[in-house]
Amino acid sequence: MSSNSHEKKRILTGDRPTGKLHLGHYVGSLKNRLRLQKEYDCHFIIADLHTLTTKPDKPSILELRDNIRETVLDYLAIGIDPEISTIYLQSAVPVVYEMNLIFEMLISLNRIAGLPSLKEMARNAHIDPESVPFGLIGYPVLQTADILMSKAHLVPVGKDNEAHIELSRDIARRFNQYYGEVFPLPEVLLSDVPTLVGIDNKGKMSKSLGNAIYLSDDSKTVEKKVKSMYTDPNRVRADMPGTVEGNPVFSYHDIFNTNKNEVEDLKARYREGKVGDVEVKEKLSLAINEFLDPIRERRNYFSQEKGLVEEVLYLGTKKMEEFANATLKEMRSAMGLYGAWNKIQRIAKERREREVKT
Ligand code: ATP
Ligand code: MG
Repeated sequence: MSSNSHEKKRILTGDRPTGKLHLGHYVGSLKNRLRLQKEYDCHFIIADLHTLTTKPDKPSILELRDNIRETVLDYLAIGIDPEISTIYLQSAVPVVYEMNLIFEMLISLNRIAGLPSLKEMARNAHIDPESVPFGLIGYPVLQTADILMSKAHLVPVGKDNEAHIELSRDIARRFNQYYGEVFPLPEVLLSDVPTLVGIDNKGKMSKSLGNAIYLSDDSKTVEKKVKSMYTDPNRVRADMPGTVEGNPVFSYHDIFNTNKNEVEDLKARYREGKVGDVEVKEKLSLAINEFLDPIRERRNYFSQEKGLVEEVLYLGTKKMEEFANATLKEMRSAMGLYGAWNKIQRIAKERREREVKT
């Protein structure tokens, strides 16, 4: 392996540019990225090719342009520093296509088809289970190509992606067994909140499900969304004892409200039927808005810096391209796959040179 002990270990993770990022992204993955961005050499992928797995039509492709920009703005707004972390655009580093094809050979269809996350993605995208695209089934292999292309050691993701990273490990292990040690075995890093439930309490918060609070939502929108949040359905009056456990309003309080005494007091009063949903939700809106205020401020600043997002992506993508080319070269050489073509080229060249001489 070309890495030496002085080199920092690497992280690869990222997001599909299908819209703006939300609180689920923050607690599931972004928070870990921020925590580790100085310690690790970080690569953050804007995974536009992955959007084709559920939205391959032309209008969706055209929407990507705006969404790519919004995703990068979200990164900058939460504090990702492009001076130390590499933010890159997946489709602009075509090495990934070749790696994807090779890795497809190293995993069985059965192993992939059993992943529940793909069924969930299909369901969320309203795809009929009988017509799931081949590329959607191959999603975790393309993800493997992203991860191994940057020779990542660590992949901070939400719970829904955990099984995909295990599959990436299997592919890396198989590659190393067949051809020699080229790839570190990537490890998954889950956060302390591996899945944030949506405001409707129907599964995880997701861009596609319309149950998200976005990092860029203004304070009024946050208030409105929190007001509409699912809470204990059996509690029809404020003087009835309510359930705190599994109640998303309290899960959010636990995560976003920094005033722990207030949270404990609200929980106690809720259990006794001594506080209304209105107050619990108002305090939650305040806590979330306090958390989002500095993010909004930075987002606003960066969005007015003309060309900044584009420059960040351009430089990051160029840097990634260089790294990816080196990985591909190493991979090809380990496999010996291009030996035949190299020999053909050499012999053909020699013949041409002989002909020129005679
Ligand atoms: P889409 O609906 O378009 O699939 P998404 O909201 O599921 O979007 P992804 O781009 O698929 O977002 O996920 C990006 C990263 O954020 C992944 O690491 C994923 O595990 C994590 N993540 C997404 N939603 C949540 C959530 N609700 N809780 C925790 N982590 C999440
Ligand atoms: Mg998703």
